[in-house]
Amino acid sequence: HADLARAEQLIAVVPDFPEPGVLFRDIAPLLADAGAFRVCVEALVEPFRGRFDVVAGIEARGFLLAGAAAVATGTGMVPIRKAGKLPRPAASVSYALEYGEAAVEASDDIPAGSRVLVLDDVLATGGTLRASHRLLAELGADVVGSAVLLELEALGGRAVAGDVHTVFTA
Ligand code: 5GP
Repeated sequence: HADLARAEQLIAVVPDFPEPGVLFRDIAPLLADAGAFRVCVEALVEPFRGRFDVVAGIEARGFLLAGAAAVATGTGMVPIRKAGKLPRPAASVSYALEYGEAAVEASDDIPAGSRVLVLDDVLATGGTLRASHRLLAELGADVVGSAVLLELEALGGRAVAGDVHTVFTA
């Protein structure tokens, strides 16, 4: 697919961000391009079409993809946030980072049994996505799948987060 190949070229690779030794993938140039943004949102939801009622997006760039995917598919959107940001958190799941711990939270704004597709921009170690699955399960949602724009294969996130649909791999 020529449009997807062009979109992949628009992901910027930034050395030493946010700290030395990390090669950060920045999807902002892809989002800024109308055609690239559209084909990527379509590719993210494609395997799940007709099988979800809500798109959950993981802070922060997952919000951008999930909002667009929700409107494109006529579904709702739920933000999964870092701890302490939500005014009405209904569930919280902690998970281990390389150094220390983090938590994800969500509000309970969807009916129990809602079929949820989880989106994020990048799959790295998979810890955030795995915690997000547990969070949605705590809210009584039915997670039908996850999709990311870019999987960083060397970090082994798939073994942690389970089956994930990926548009691009690096
Ligand atoms: P995890 O290691 O839990 O899979 O990733 C943690 C969070 O950081 C996820 O939301 C993931 O999207 C984000 N993340 C990790 N590495 C990168 C990166 O290189 N680029 C971007 N844009 N996000 C990243």
